[in-house]
Amino acid sequence: MLTTKVYLDRDATLKTLEGKTIAVIGYGSQGSAQAQNMRDSGLNVIVGLRPGGNSWRRAEKDGFKVYPIPKAAEIGDVILLLIPDMVQPEVYRESIEENLYEGKTLDFAHGFNIHFKQINPPENVDVIMVAPKGPGIRVRETYLEGFGVPALIAVHQDYTGRAKETALAIAKALGCTRAGVLETTFKDETESDLIGEQTVLVGGLIELIKCGFEVLVEAGYPPELAYFEACNEAKLIMDLIYRRGFTGMLKAISDTAKYGGLTVGPKIIDEHVKENMRKAAKEVQSGRFAEEWIREHKSGEKRLKELMKATENLEIEKVGRAIRRMAGLEK
Ligand code: NAD
Ligand code: MG
Repeated sequence: MLTTKVYLDRDATLKTLEGKTIAVIGYGSQGSAQAQNMRDSGLNVIVGLRPGGNSWRRAEKDGFKVYPIPKAAEIGDVILLLIPDMVQPEVYRESIEENLYEGKTLDFAHGFNIHFKQINPPENVDVIMVAPKGPGIRVRETYLEGFGVPALIAVHQDYTGRAKETALAIAKALGCTRAGVLETTFKDETESDLIGEQTVLVGGLIELIKCGFEVLVEAGYPPELAYFEACNEAKLIMDLIYRRGFTGMLKAISDTAKYGGLTVGPKIIDEHVKENMRKAAKEVQSGRFAEEWIREHKSGEKRLKELMKATENLEIEKVGRAIRRMAGLEK
């Protein structure tokens, strides 16, 4: 019961990018994964970085020709902007804009700066997005396993008439068309990405696991036991949901867990939580969250640093580290 077209390998061709130079700007999480996948798919890939940084050495070690960002942007026919969203506008203004000649393609992995108008490219270029729906490390790992992560593509500007074809070709070179690619808009990708990470993936999960752990510890159970119960097992359950859905997961657990979970769950994550999620969604849609985050970044990310520190010092983090070390998961 699919309601949206899913693009697969057969819907894309690498011929679109034949004879073109792909300039990957940034060699971090997405940059290193995407540059390597595209090269291994046979494309001509160069990397653009700040001279002297750690990324420069890593990209060279991985066998890439590395250039300063303005030079890479000048050489590249297709420019992938794969540096942190908050630094993209400045790097774009200083090093990319003047090298974005007519007919080139500017590609993003997330729609933030186009949607919130922090970057405004000229009209005579293609502006596209290929957003893998997974962390960079998985983009690379799944590619090496002969598969890929799903991705979203979008076209913001189609000057050449071939913008979508280019996006699909990049998605194919990344391995994403093996897993499935959906077409969306910069607006929908940006908003749904932010809402999803705040309410579920990052914000929701951390708070849910943290509360579960704290309630167990407050009730007098040993923190190690609480960690296994609230955090470690969450991964095992999520793996089942990932592969088999809710119903498949429920069929794999005990009847007691089924009954308890289905009757008590809605009392924990109740209408009040959903109302909070709706509020978070509105903050994203109105642009208020983006404004706040841009302001925070420009003033040195002080609040973010404090919150990271506080998280590091949580009891669940301390117990978790000890357990993961014991189990050999972490050094
Ligand atoms: P990252 O933090 O891993 O990027 C690091 C790279 O950016 C390094 O090569 C670094 O040298 C370079 N860089 C950092 N600051 C710079 C500056 N001031 N000037 C020039 N270069 C600088 O970034 P990322 O997490 O890979 O994100 C890249 C894009 O991909 C973003 O648009 C992000 O939203 C998107 N995205 C990321 C992920 C992910 O897995 N992290 C997933 C989907 C989409
Ligand atoms: Mg996200």
